Amino acid sequence: MKYALVTGGSRGIGRAVCISLAQMGYCVIVNYLSNDAEAGKTLELISEAGGSGELLKFDVSDMKAASDALEGWMESHTDGYIEVLVNNAGIRKDELMLWMEPENWYKVLGTSLDAFYNVTRPLLKQMLVKKYGRIINMASLSGLKGLPGQCNYSAAKGGLIAATKALAQEVGRKGVTVNAVAPGFVRTDMVEGLDEAQLKKTIPLNRFGEPEEVAALVAFLASGQAGYITGECISINGGLY
Ligand code: NAP
Repeated sequence: MKYALVTGGSRGIGRAVCISLAQMGYCVIVNYLSNDAEAGKTLELISEAGGSGELLKFDVSDMKAASDALEGWMESHTDGYIEVLVNNAGIRKDELMLWMEPENWYKVLGTSLDAFYNVTRPLLKQMLVKKYGRIINMASLSGLKGLPGQCNYSAAKGGLIAATKALAQEVGRKGVTVNAVAPGFVRTDMVEGLDEAQLKKTIPLNRFGEPEEVAALVAFLASGQAGYITGECISINGGLY
């Protein structure tokens, strides 16, 4: 059995990625924080697409919770290993730096950047031993250019891009590729409440992206065909910079 883990797979981009990976023949492990109903719906969509999957609920920002869940999973699944990891879970808590409470700084960093460490490290050894792995990190345009009101989110995603490039150089020789994807505005719960009509005027393609469009890029990076791409951060933003 070939396994893929998608963090934050219960909704939005993560859900679309789960379905794409299932269509590639992966048994998809759907991680999420708390939304049992939406996670269950992702599993249903996976099986409607002819695939298989399972749920693995844990808080990616909590190092112990992540390592307990992943080590438990590995102990009970000796028929294979997680060869594709998509570090997708993320939150935003926008605020100007002057008003930003410590909680909003640490929560955003924890869910994207600490989570990269918490989830990737326990899974890396098996990828190196098997000499095959694909790690894809969900960054953001905000991590490339920085956006006002998002010092926390820009720092988290910028750090994730740098970590992607560093890890790619550590593990390339062992057949493990590490890449990042940097979406612009994508139609999910995360952008609810934003003024889409106004914002799309700033986007050359004049619309928000769809989760399935990001999932198609992730699926390509997860595929054998992308075997010579590593340490990259690929933008998918409708031309917005
Ligand atoms: P979303 O619709 O808000 O979904 C967020 C997902 O992350 C949910 O599955 C949620 O689980 C999970 N999650 C949140 N905190 C978690 C935690 N501590 N532990 C485990 N899972 C957690 O978000 P999205 O728009 O699909 O975003 C997915 C990724 O793309 C994020 O990293 C985001 O920063 C990035 N991104 C999004 C956009 C955009 O425009 N949408 C643009 C650039 C980058 P529950 O359902 O249990 O809450």
